[in-house]
Amino acid sequence: MKEKIWLSSPHMGEKEMKYVQEAFATNWIAPLGPHVNGLEEDLEAYLGNNVHVAALSSGTAALHLALIILGVKAGDEVICQSLTFSASANPIVYQGASPVFIDSEEATWNMSPEYLEIAIRDRIQNGKKPKAIIVVHLYGMPAQMDEIMRIARRYEIPVIEDAAEALGSTYKGRAVGTFGDLGILSFNGNKIITTSGGGALISANEEYIDQARFLATQARDHAPHYQHSQIGYNYRMSNVCAGIGRGQMEVLPQRVNQRRFNFDFYKQALGDINGVQFITDPGPDFYSNHWLTTILVDGDDYSVIDIQDALNEDNIDCRPLWKPMHLQPVFKNCLYFGNGVSETLFDKGLCLPSGSNLTQSELNRVVTRIREVVNMKKSFKNIANNPISCVTFALVTALAMFL
Ligand SMILES: *Cc1c(COP(=O)(O)O)cnc(C)c1O
Repeated sequence: MKEKIWLSSPHMGEKEMKYVQEAFATNWIAPLGPHVNGLEEDLEAYLGNNVHVAALSSGTAALHLALIILGVKAGDEVICQSLTFSASANPIVYQGASPVFIDSEEATWNMSPEYLEIAIRDRIQNGKKPKAIIVVHLYGMPAQMDEIMRIARRYEIPVIEDAAEALGSTYKGRAVGTFGDLGILSFNGNKIITTSGGGALISANEEYIDQARFLATQARDHAPHYQHSQIGYNYRMSNVCAGIGRGQMEVLPQRVNQRRFNFDFYKQALGDINGVQFITDPGPDFYSNHWLTTILVDGDDYSVIDIQDALNEDNIDCRPLWKPMHLQPVFKNCLYFGNGVSETLFDKGLCLPSGSNLTQSELNRVVTRIREVVNMKKSFKNIANNPISCVTFALVTALAMFL
């Protein structure tokens, strides 16, 4: 078996151990400490725009707190992009609220502003004005933030940006996650940088972030004893994990460059294949970290399944796109507004190995394997369509087996 090529594996820099050792040396092993504050400051500096940041135990926890802070309660409706990882939508249900799913638009694969507005109007007409909008920057590609914010402001509905996959991406030169009322990041093991597990909540509203820190540490009132007036959560990041995060922040610009290099390399090496399509930059306003390189496969002679199978046989990790939430059994009773763009993307899409630690020979192996399977399927079809070569093929195959 050839050596495994991973989809997106953790990639440590040089300083992570130094920070973790510091945490041990000072016995700050708790879910708070100097590295937690340090990581928050690093992120605030990186994201700019006067945002405040709370470091948390996961991106999912950050989304959950965002909904609580915006007052989402049982019986409410929350709008959410359908083409995403389930973690974008699950916290809506934690609150007893219902997701209303919105289709993608073709340029970014993210929330369609058109269907967003149609959904808002429909829900208002039905007396169910949505409490929040969760927009995702999928695979690092920024969503159409101008239009989405314009619509959200027109109807006075707060926006949460799920930037779990998009640290390092910008829209009109501004970091994604800083446009909405709140934004979230993830530092899970497969993301562009990792704290092994972790996340962050972002907001220009300092009160929101203070509230998040309060709720994330069991909502303790100011009192000499343990007193609680609200339900709290154990969602803070530990000082050890934050130490890893501080090391990772030092190499984030390199990680973004490497992921973008992967995308350019694949596009260069595979872009000429008929039926393999790359998401093209919708314009200079969009700067993607290209967390994962994705392709759409629509060949006459081969399907995305053929490519997926061939890569897997060669011990190369690859993955279909996220299955849209409105197609998920668990969300089958939820409302959905759209015209099938996300379904088509799901049918044709594939995520290629995209780690920032991939070697050139690993990237070459992926490309070679894809070219092989495409050529094989093409020549097979040519043979099948031609009776004479069909006989020749059978004879040659029989001869080869005999020998
Ligand atoms: C990874 C991810 C999350 C969840 O982050 P965790 O840190 O794993 O909880 C949320 N949304 C999207 C789009 C993600 O990719």
